[in-house]
Amino acid sequence: MRMLSPDRYHSSVTAIDLADLQRGGVRHLLIDLDNTLMPRDSSEVPPDVRVWIDRLSDHGMSACLVSNNWHAHVTSVAESIGLPIVAKALKPFPSAFRKGLRELGGSAKHAAVIGDQIFTDVLGGNLLGMTTVLVAPQSTSDLPHTLVLRRLERLVLAGREPLA
Ligand SMILES: [Mg+2]
Repeated sequence: MRMLSPDRYHSSVTAIDLADLQRGGVRHLLIDLDNTLMPRDSSEVPPDVRVWIDRLSDHGMSACLVSNNWHAHVTSVAESIGLPIVAKALKPFPSAFRKGLRELGGSAKHAAVIGDQIFTDVLGGNLLGMTTVLVAPQSTSDLPHTLVLRRLERLVLAGREPLA
């Protein structure tokens, strides 16, 4: 079960304590897009999340999006917030995370994965020994297979609640 357990669990990315992550040695962030940075049923990254992304450099952090989404629009979303993206990622498999780390010139030791799903983001991050940060999904809209996984996530989380 350790592989399915996030190091931190927050209500949204804006609730993540970046200074604390920085103290823990995190320099690089591999961030999920759908339901992490923006609601799955939206096409725009919310203003408070944009501000949060702009603050990453204040903490000496660089970031790359790693998304299982295969639609073309994810590239323009990435451009709109000035971040590189590895799309069609097939998380939890490690190759896309490794590609993201290469993009940032970083190592897993100094990286954190941030995402809303245990079986893709958290598992993938833990498999590579990265810090893992789970965020609550930013909408109730999910792909059908994800909705099935959400039930299993509730079992894994066993009543654990996100920190605001
Ligand atoms: Mg997601």
